[in-house]
Amino acid sequence: MKVAEFRTHSINRTCTKKYKNYKSYDMALSKDFSKRCGYCNIKESTIAPVSFQVDHFIPQKAFKGVRDDLLCDYDNLVWSCPKCNRAKSNQFDGILTKKQATNTLFIKPDEEDYNKHLYRNEMGGIGAYDKVGIDLIARLKLFRIIHAYAWAYEQLEDIIQRANDGSLKIKLEQLNKLYQNKDRIKNALNEAYKLNK
Ligand SMILES: [Zn+2]
Repeated sequence: MKVAEFRTHSINRTCTKKYKNYKSYDMALSKDFSKRCGYCNIKESTIAPVSFQVDHFIPQKAFKGVRDDLLCDYDNLVWSCPKCNRAKSNQFDGILTKKQATNTLFIKPDEEDYNKHLYRNEMGGIGAYDKVGIDLIARLKLFRIIHAYAWAYEQLEDIIQRANDGSLKIKLEQLNKLYQNKDRIKNALNEAYKLNK
């Protein structure tokens, strides 16, 4: 059962600089991917001190000697957590010519909306709407429990953040009042239950 969208931000490539080492794009990728993994959506700070990595959408093993320009092509780089980078590894199937480069085993996070294929289920895990989503889950191992834990943690963090910045203040005050009145409410409930109300 879907309880939330898989992703709530958009990914836009804004970097126009050219670097000779693809790792130099890390700051730009982090910014353009909103500090989240392009594949599983986990937040950088959630797995800190573990660092994020630069993934090649068309893997290095596939383009080596054919399209070496893809090594430092910003468009071929995806900001990735180490789990997704490792799971994705060298998996490749697609077209690789001078003009075209596709990897049909995956969905490029900045080109197609993952929300069309994936969602969050009631356990915080990642669910699929279709075959594309099922394949993504299998190939990126998105069925791992860490994804549910991470989501729950990020939800809590979001609530705390919103409580601190004031946007949740009224709700928290109401909750607090309810909590203080908990016993009274419970007694009233028991009474009403007895009276079949
Ligand atoms: Zn990931």
